[in-house]
Amino acid sequence: MIKACIGLGANLGEALASLQQAAHELAATPGITGLRLSRFYRSAPVDATGPDYVNAVAEIDTLLSADALLDILQKIENQHGRLRPYRNAPRTLDLDLLLYGDLTIDTPRLTVPHPRMHERAFVLRPLQELRPTLHLRQSSLQTLLQACSDQALELVPGQHQP
Ligand code: ATP
Ligand code: MG
Ligand code: MG
Repeated sequence: MIKACIGLGANLGEALASLQQAAHELAATPGITGLRLSRFYRSAPVDATGPDYVNAVAEIDTLLSADALLDILQKIENQHGRLRPYRNAPRTLDLDLLLYGDLTIDTPRLTVPHPRMHERAFVLRPLQELRPTLHLRQSSLQTLLQACSDQALELVPGQHQP
């Protein structure tokens, strides 16, 4: 069994509802068990324009290969009407494979750990809820978060402490 982490994000449509639905769809996928979901965060776009994002991170247990997992993530994105008119365009749903066990993957369609996750507060903060002792690139999540403290991030109101 592999523990994998998935970054969820959306800034078009009912973004919070899309993320909640995507988490349910992931949890209901054959080959995926034990889904744990962080709280939801609201963030201003990084290197992009458009409405604020809602973000979260999910951890799952899976026997699926990383490639098969990416297929499933892309299928769920497509079911939510994901379009890719240009890089970093606003989106109804983005599902990125952040971590796949402790494997390093570098293929034309898949780079894991996700190559930009360590510089994104909207990934690091929810990931920290699920994996508080995780290190990336020899740094704690707290240290990495301090380096991107200029990125505004707030909890979506009305959620309980984990
Ligand atoms: P970013 O990767 O900077 O978050 P994005 O999520 O908007 O940007 P997408 O349009 O969702 O980028 O994906 C572009 C391509 O990235 C996909 O076709 C996919 O093959 C590739 N890709 C490479 N590594 C990963 C990964 N770890 N998770 C998801 N997609 C990946
Ligand atoms: Mg992304
Ligand atoms: Mg993506």
